[in-house]
Amino acid sequence: MDQGPVSPHVLIFPFPSQGHVNSMLKLAELLSVVGLHVTFLNSDYNQHRLFLHTDIQTRFSRYPGFRFQTISDGLTTDHPRTGERVMDLFEGLKATAKPIFRELMISRGQGSDTRPPVSCIIADGMMSFTIDIANEVGIPIISFRTVSACSFWAYFSALKLIESGELPLKGNDMDQLVTSIPGMEGFLRKRDLPSLLRVSNLDDEGLLLLTKETQQTPRAHALILNTFEDLEGPILGQIRNHCPKTYTIGPLHAHLKTRLASESTTSQSSNSFRQEDRSCIAWLDHQPSKSVIYVSFGSMVVISRKQLIEFCYGLVNSSSRFLWVIRTDSLAEEDGEHQTPAELMEGAKERSYIVEWAPQEEVLAHPAVGGFLTHSGWNSTLESICAGVPMICWPYFADQQINSRFVSHVWKLGSDMKDTCDRLIVEKMVRDLMEERKDELLKTADMMATRARKCVSEGGSSYCNLSSLIEEIRLMGR
Ligand code: UDP
Repeated sequence: MDQGPVSPHVLIFPFPSQGHVNSMLKLAELLSVVGLHVTFLNSDYNQHRLFLHTDIQTRFSRYPGFRFQTISDGLTTDHPRTGERVMDLFEGLKATAKPIFRELMISRGQGSDTRPPVSCIIADGMMSFTIDIANEVGIPIISFRTVSACSFWAYFSALKLIESGELPLKGNDMDQLVTSIPGMEGFLRKRDLPSLLRVSNLDDEGLLLLTKETQQTPRAHALILNTFEDLEGPILGQIRNHCPKTYTIGPLHAHLKTRLASESTTSQSSNSFRQEDRSCIAWLDHQPSKSVIYVSFGSMVVISRKQLIEFCYGLVNSSSRFLWVIRTDSLAEEDGEHQTPAELMEGAKERSYIVEWAPQEEVLAHPAVGGFLTHSGWNSTLESICAGVPMICWPYFADQQINSRFVSHVWKLGSDMKDTCDRLIVEKMVRDLMEERKDELLKTADMMATRARKCVSEGGSSYCNLSSLIEEIRLMGR
């Protein structure tokens, strides 16, 4: 192991949701592998679920410099933490976690143990209060945005969109091209803007919040993005005009796998807050190569019963085999008696499988999987890219609307189904992905997967950027 002469101590503080914790834990492990002291500041609520459903304590016990610490997210245990209520999380954090974090940083994270004081903070860029506090107490802070570079850049350009009159949206202009985001002229339509920018009112709470949070990033010492140069190079060039120290070190899940393999260690890298149902792997083992479309909308999407029914019919009528993740908390509560998803899909019993939560990375890497119907969350998108699996995108909120445009239009890795939910369109797009355009899409996806693997291998861009980042963190510890 690469042990430096000093012992820096990094405190990692993610926004408390599954996607954010997933990628920041991968970074925590990458830093632990090289012998840094790492404190991972998790919300009480997520820590409980993480410990309950994974072997993470055992997995991380091999890193003597690593420890978990917890902080309140400000919400009660029974408060919903789905996409519909995400604003409550922001408020809870500001009211409750901010003062606790401040106290913790004043003491430099020191408890009664013997570890060195915190010498560097890596905090989620969605919580800019961490930058205020770090600057106040004099600890260098690096911002980590868990979203794509393209969505970060769109949020960063919000003021330009407003100045040019492209925002707020007016009437029926969703198909108009956006002209004031440098690097995205000519293909980005207004409907492809991140959902928090798709507003008809400049007082919109989400717009104000995200714009403000993103504008704070240049105040941090550096920026980390979970992406890679070959995927988002031109957009990264734009970002570096404002944040010159931008480290692209992704895809983090693939990066971690590669580094652990080179240390001759393996890792079952589940960071799930829910129980993974591994029976779907046994089901996949019995399906022909590339015959199954995997359907999952991540950890926060909530769909209506009408949408559920449209997806059911579309999938059943497509004649494709499918594996569908339906979380119990993903269905909007509606009155009346309803058929269960299993009853609705009775007609496709032999060629479908439903689980509440899947080991997603493993599912996507399974030889039977040939397509992914996804909500275009950034982790899911990267996991699909690395596995060489083409996508149908059905974005729900946040960065997903712009990710899906890049998947379909820029990277040509699938198709974009945003703003519709119709059984005929679902059926057509699944047939297209799994039959008509199958070979062409698999070829493009395979090429991108090769590039992703290369960038996290020795000498690749993300590999080298991570080494530079570690070097910089070591210097902060001196
Ligand atoms: N995930 C999983 N099992 C599932 C569904 C999702 O392990 O059944 C993981 C997935 O691998 C990804 C994360 O949950 O790492 C979801 O993150 P993403 O950014 O895609 O979406 P979010 O949940 O934040 O909307």
